[in-house]
Amino acid sequence: MRIAFIGLGNMGLPMAVNLLAAGHQVLGYDLAEAALEAFAAAGGQRAASARQALEGAQAVITMLPASRHVEALYLGDEGVLAAVPAGTLLVDCSTIAPAVARKVAAAAAESGHFMLDAPVSGGTGGAKAGTLTFMVGGETATFERGRPLLEAMGKNIFHAGDCGSGQTVKVCNNMLLGILMAGTSEALRLGIANGMDPNVLSDVMLRSSGRNWTLEVYNPCPGVMAQAPASHGYADGFGVDLMLKDLGLAQESALATGTPTPLGALARNLYDLHSKAGHGRLDFSSIYNLLASQA
Ligand code: NAD
Repeated sequence: MRIAFIGLGNMGLPMAVNLLAAGHQVLGYDLAEAALEAFAAAGGQRAASARQALEGAQAVITMLPASRHVEALYLGDEGVLAAVPAGTLLVDCSTIAPAVARKVAAAAAESGHFMLDAPVSGGTGGAKAGTLTFMVGGETATFERGRPLLEAMGKNIFHAGDCGSGQTVKVCNNMLLGILMAGTSEALRLGIANGMDPNVLSDVMLRSSGRNWTLEVYNPCPGVMAQAPASHGYADGFGVDLMLKDLGLAQESALATGTPTPLGALARNLYDLHSKAGHGRLDFSSIYNLLASQA
């Protein structure tokens, strides 16, 4: 298939490379020259503009930072909907507001395009390994049409429901993850301040009722897990500012529906404080440092 892939950042680049490896012809575009160079070095075809990438594309995949980028790219005068013929498959993998995903999908349907929102979980490691989880919103027939492309980039492909539901699932999952990371950090800090070895404490909690994903593979205390970002200066991984964005999306969805999410709101404030202290680009498990003992 001839695919236009727009947004070749930390996630988009390895995803596009996996599509190449599956035998697709991929034309990639990004605003950043460095991203285009990395794509070309990996064997991809770089386009000079989004418009050029879209020419003759049978499918369009986007992996952009946030709602405003997606809205501008799809709905602008020179945007995707204006550039590609009716019937083209459009898949947005960015994490954005469910309401914006529904707005763009409605405009796409009106112009005769077929659109999926397909945000991912699994981070840059999952993107490279082709083991991402996709949470997909859109019509069943469109989902089945997009499935082979998603399978080239991921392992677990879930059809969550109508347009926007992929984003809703993603927002709920990441709100829970943000809360769990802050809670796990708090428990570890409490134990350590009271004389516990973090390895022993983590091991016991991992086999007790406090068990959760952060203790399993992403322990926030440096030195407990060799492969976790905490043991590498909190570099790479999933950034504080990206978590903050997702917790903000959760609060927007909560306000729109009058849903009480007090822990989600508290978690958002914690990550906001941490970001404003200058740590926005560190991995989100560095929230552990915000909770250091003052004693
Ligand atoms: P990134 O900032 O590394 O990449 C985004 C890329 O989009 C950048 O290279 C930027 O230059 C490009 N871009 C922006 N506007 C553009 C435009 N109009 N045309 C072409 N290119 C444009 O971000 P990322 O880490 O790859 O994340 C992308 C999305 O995936 C975000 O929505 C994020 O929330 C989500 N996500 C990230 C992770 C992660 O671990 N990094 C995990 C799951 C989901």
